[in-house]
Amino acid sequence: MEIFQMIKERDIGIVLDERFKLHKGPTGHPENPNRLIEIEAGIKELQGKVTAIEARLAQDSEILFVHSPNYLKKLKELPANSLKLDQDTYWCKNSLQVARLAVGSAIELTQKIAEGDIRSGLSFSRPPGHHAEEEKAMGFCIFNNIAIAAENLHRSKAAERIVIVDWDVHHGNGTQHHFEGDPNTLYISTHQFPFYPGTGSASEKGFGKGEGATLNVPMPPNCGEKEYIGVFQHVIEPAIRKFAPDIILASCGFDSHFSDPLAQMENTATGFKGMTLIIRALADELCGGRLAILLEGGYSAKALQEGGKAVLEAILPASVDQLPETQAVEVNSRLEKILGQTN
Ligand SMILES: [Zn+2]
Repeated sequence: MEIFQMIKERDIGIVLDERFKLHKGPTGHPENPNRLIEIEAGIKELQGKVTAIEARLAQDSEILFVHSPNYLKKLKELPANSLKLDQDTYWCKNSLQVARLAVGSAIELTQKIAEGDIRSGLSFSRPPGHHAEEEKAMGFCIFNNIAIAAENLHRSKAAERIVIVDWDVHHGNGTQHHFEGDPNTLYISTHQFPFYPGTGSASEKGFGKGEGATLNVPMPPNCGEKEYIGVFQHVIEPAIRKFAPDIILASCGFDSHFSDPLAQMENTATGFKGMTLIIRALADELCGGRLAILLEGGYSAKALQEGGKAVLEAILPASVDQLPETQAVEVNSRLEKILGQTN
């Protein structure tokens, strides 16, 4: 416990950048710059305490860790006028630069944490990334920020064993597909199921050498903080401990919040805080505190304000005293059913 008390707020990093607001689509689109304005409002009082990490543009060579040269070439040649990359994902004149910035911020944050410059941190970037596949944009995502950041850690030998926990309400198909043959990257996802994008059944467990390094926890609609924290305690915590990572990365979506317009879950700020506290405690225990949290989805003002604050609070040094609050989830019948699928 004493070592935790020596951690300072300045050891926590945060990426925020006005340029993330320049990726804009049609009026009324849920993935819009206001999402970041809501998060900023939620974390206003905490933001000044932590260390600002500067975002940077990702280079082509970094994007190609995950995406094909053909896909990147296609994006570079797109006309600047607003158009769609798929039925949900828009493209404007700034999109390539902003998408590069989201990747670059993920790389900067994770590299700084892996190398010990800072202990842990958050990147509030957009567009999100976890649906983006090698060859295509999908579900508001252009480049797969977290997959590229994890690949960068592997290739630079900054980390060998990496856990990616994805608690966005949607399954991170792009991230799973990139790592499902890799035994050194454990991809774990909680998501509403069946639901967009359709993947993420419990039977998808990785293949070849990566068999067992994919863990999907599909959840029925209307799950709340009890079910989420319960899944983190009973499934995710033992899986991460067994894997023994060097660093934990999180795909943090706030779209499991009860107020989200796109999904049907009932999660709360207490749930987000509890989930983050559990992951943070595992990072403290197993990997010297190394934890990087990257924004994915979340489309209601309330969820973004409250969720952003809850997640940042949970990684601040003082929150270590709040860990016991997450220790008492009773296994109700709904949770029992969810847990039963993952065995
Ligand atoms: Zn989502």
